Amino acid sequence: MITNLELFKNKPLIIAGPCSISSREQIFRIARESKEACADVIRCQLWKPRTRPNSFEGVGEEGIQWVIDLKKEINLPVAMEVMCERHVDLLKDVADVLWVGARNMQNYELIKRLTHEKHPVILKRGFISTIKEWFGAAEYLGLDRVIACERGVRTGADSMRFTLDLNSMLVMKHDKKVRVIVDPSHPAGRRDMVEPLAYAGIASGADGLIIEAHYNPEEELVDRDQTIDIPTLERIIQKSSTIHSAVQ
Ligand code: PEP
Ligand code: MN
Repeated sequence: MITNLELFKNKPLIIAGPCSISSREQIFRIARESKEACADVIRCQLWKPRTRPNSFEGVGEEGIQWVIDLKKEINLPVAMEVMCERHVDLLKDVADVLWVGARNMQNYELIKRLTHEKHPVILKRGFISTIKEWFGAAEYLGLDRVIACERGVRTGADSMRFTLDLNSMLVMKHDKKVRVIVDPSHPAGRRDMVEPLAYAGIASGADGLIIEAHYNPEEELVDRDQTIDIPTLERIIQKSSTIHSAVQ
């Protein structure tokens, strides 16, 4: 079982992959190319919480075997979202890193179920959660294995999809002593803003990034507009490493 100590080296942890797995071929190709670009962990989303019905909700259980096969080939850890207790049962032996999405940050039955497992857990911040609420959920999970992810919040500002609240990330890191990463994809909502938000996160002291990437972003079924291509991912990984060293 991987631990936070093994995941985080003296460089930013990069988690990359599609917003959502749509086929075996898609995740294999994205994982191979992301590995070549030097990503450390692959995003493997099987279930997608969607705002409106009749949208693609992920491939579901069918994709579990694809991820098992993928891990054998690429030999990289995978991060997988769990939306309910049943998902934890299904994925606990497959995922290296489990993750709780923004919509479930205060789903305490799910959070408590996760306390029975030992995986590192990415805890994405709820859309309007306070530091007290975000940290409280992190405390349930255990601070030694939680990875708090700032993914943007709703504010009066409507310039992009969400406002990346680096102030809160700094408080989680420095005052609360929680491991922090930044998701630059969801606050951007658009491809061209992912890269600068990623650098802003790393320059502010984030320990890593979780990024939506695809070999052909236009083919992505979910969150297409904010999905970057692999050359951009590679550049982000390289420059983030330089920025990380510069601000250490
Ligand atoms: C995602 O990572 O694709 C996602 C839905 O993120 P969030 O839970 O932060 O909205
Ligand atoms: Mn997404």
